[in-house]
Amino acid sequence: EVVVVGSVNADLVIGVRRRPAPGETVLGSDLATYPGGKGANQAVAAARLGGRVGILGRVGDDGHGALLRAALAGAGVDLSHLLVTEGPSGVALITVDPGGDNSIIVSPGANARLVPADVDRARPMLAAASVVSFQLEIPIETVEAAARAAADAGARVVLNLSPPAPLPDGLLALCDPLVVNEHEAAFLLGHRGGPADLAKELLGRGPRSVLITLGADGALVADAAGVTAVSSPKVEAVDTTGAGDAFTAALCLRLARGDDLADAARYAARVGAAAVRRPGAQSSYPDADEELPA
Ligand code: ADP
Repeated sequence: EVVVVGSVNADLVIGVRRRPAPGETVLGSDLATYPGGKGANQAVAAARLGGRVGILGRVGDDGHGALLRAALAGAGVDLSHLLVTEGPSGVALITVDPGGDNSIIVSPGANARLVPADVDRARPMLAAASVVSFQLEIPIETVEAAARAAADAGARVVLNLSPPAPLPDGLLALCDPLVVNEHEAAFLLGHRGGPADLAKELLGRGPRSVLITLGADGALVADAAGVTAVSSPKVEAVDTTGAGDAFTAALCLRLARGDDLADAARYAARVGAAAVRRPGAQSSYPDADEELPA
């Protein structure tokens, strides 16, 4: 019911007392290796919630690739279009300081080699999906080609503008919804503002609908019917890593099952809140039978 087209990364995390200056060496904690990447996170989150989920992506033929494949398989994601590239998988090199702040370098690796020709072979899977979800950690031409293929086959296109990058108008017009946080909204519009104003202005740029996530303050949904506010359940936030991916995955699943956008966003906010209660990204995602915060 949901297909995710996107990135698959190994997150390599080291705790440091402070970051090294140029030319300096510092010692850090043991290395921890976690499955990540926005695409894989979304696919795992939607599958954990009980969705039938496929992924179109690329990993390398290295050890990370095997780990990433296993994590997706463990969640029950269909891997028939998880392609293997000679060379390294995508990795995110993450240092975490004692204050909990992250510094991240992403090496796209195999993700950069997911090309429009790969979309052609995945057409049957895209055509069978109700909703196809995109983020921007793979080449934009591939996003464009797959979104066009999905829309032509009657699937609904959901696109998370993360990491922020300019979108071709033709791609923007397919988004239903365009999912952004406040930073991504400001990036696209070139200015900041109140969330309701940002939502209306984004809608004016051409997507079919807009969803702005506001962390603990919930989300705003904007479409032809107007702007609707959705609240976040009150939870103790332990780690927000990957919460946006859990939110978008839950949204896609409910849209695939026929919810309207506001109802899907209400459910997604509960799933996002569940994901911030536990550390990590994929490790924090709730199962279908877990009681969600309300
Ligand atoms: P991003 O992580 O992409 O910047 P947000 O910070 O808006 O996006 O978080 C995405 C979603 O995660 C929110 O819409 C909400 O559902 C959930 N979330 C994030 N932080 C909290 C929080 N402190 N309390 C409850 N839910 C949260």
